[in-house]
Parts: sequence; C-alpha cells; structure tokens
Amino acid sequence: MKQTLRLGRVAGIPIGVHWSVLVIMVLLARSLATAVLPADAPGTPRPVAWLFGAAGALLMLLSLLAHELAHALVGRHFGIRVERLTLWLLGGMAEFRDEPPSARADLLVAGAGPLTSVAAAVGFGSVAVLLSAAGGPVAVVVVLLWLTTINLVLAVFNLLPGAPLDGGRVLRAALWWWHGDRARAALTAVRVGHALGVTLILAGLVEVVIFGLVDGLWTALVGWFLLMAAGAEGESVRSRGDAQRQQPKTGAFR
Ligand SMILES: [Zn+2]
Repeated sequence: MKQTLRLGRVAGIPIGVHWSVLVIMVLLARSLATAVLPADAPGTPRPVAWLFGAAGALLMLLSLLAHELAHALVGRHFGIRVERLTLWLLGGMAEFRDEPPSARADLLVAGAGPLTSVAAAVGFGSVAVLLSAAGGPVAVVVVLLWLTTINLVLAVFNLLPGAPLDGGRVLRAALWWWHGDRARAALTAVRVGHALGVTLILAGLVEVVIFGLVDGLWTALVGWFLLMAAGAEGESVRSRGDAQRQQPKTGAFR
C-alpha cells in the first residue's frame, strides 16, 4: 500500500500512513465525542469531549501500530523481510517480502498481532480500573474503557479463521503443520476468507436494508475488502504453485 505520509522507522521498519487513515480517525473521534462520552460521562463539555475523542482515536491508532509492529518484529525474528507498515482506512497492514519459513513461524507471526491487542486491552483496562478507584475523572476512565473494548474487539475480529485475517494465518499454519502442504493449507484459509467476506457483506446489507442502520455499510465494506484480499491471496498461492510446477520442466530442458 502506498504511504501518503512517512512517519519514520521503528527498529528499521518504515512506518507510514495512507491518507484514508484520516477517515477512520475522524469516525473514531466522532463516535467517542458525540456518542460514547455524552452517554457514559454526561456533563462533559463539548470541546473537552472532542479533545478526548481525538486523543482516544490517536491512542487507538497507536494500538493498531503496536499490533502490526508485533507481526513485523516476530516475522523479522524468523528472517522474513518486512517491506513496510501502513495505517489506513480499515486498520493496519504489515507487508512482508518473504513467506514464513515454517508452520511454526507462520503461527507465531500471525498470533503476535492479536496477542498485542489483548495486551493493550489489559493495559488500558488496568489503568481505567486504578484511575476509577482513585476517583479520577470519569471522562478519562470512559475513554480508557472504550480503548479496552475496541482492542479486544480488534483481537477477536482478527482471529476469525479466514485469510487475510490473522485467524486465517493461524488456520493456515495449523493445517500446514498437520498435513505438511503449505499451498493446500493456504487455499483452505482463502476459501474460509471468501465465505467470511460474503457473510459480512450480506450481514451489512441486512443491517442497512432491514434494520436501517447505516453502520451496516461499514460491515459490508470490511466484507468487500476481505473478499478482494482473499481473492488476491488465492491467485498468488495458485501462481506460485504453477511456477513451482514449471520449474523442473525448464530445468530438464537445460
Ligand atoms: Zn494482525
């Protein structure tokens, strides 16, 4: 993914944002400022709610970055070169130049992200509990609890077992370890990813058409992205398989 703005390097890995990250940033800040804070911390002045909304959104993006960085650092530990990390409309994206060398590496690289999100949730949750017990400002506790929930949701959603989600990678690693055929394992994860994408699109449409919830468009968009990404991944697995099958043929000619 093309980075609109480069933020710098962390442990030598180029970090950047795509312009579309602004959309998610504004949506998150708005949700905090106009829905979450007015409901759970009534009486918070509007400008303060927006300030806390922006801070919460920023912390959420940093949590996303930590999630992606965990994938990247564990990947690098296994000798996988990391192209870049990018934050965009639907979250974060770690791009790798190499495939994981083993099922174990595949599993650990995939698991590192959701594990980091769970750790972030535990961190935010603990601070919220301590602050609340100490009688700290309610609005800050509310933002911290929101960060706890959203990080947990992120971890659970990412663990759905379809490619290209982390759960899809976990499924691929498990099947690869079980029957030893990486390409076959990858294609199974792609198929589940397809089914997940279709399910989310349908669920989103039901939300919009039957329940009149505009948020359903978001669900459908995520489903659409999953469907496209799973399709691209399936193509790349198949073309790699073809290339491998063709290689011995050219070898024989030489
Ligand atoms: Zn992830």
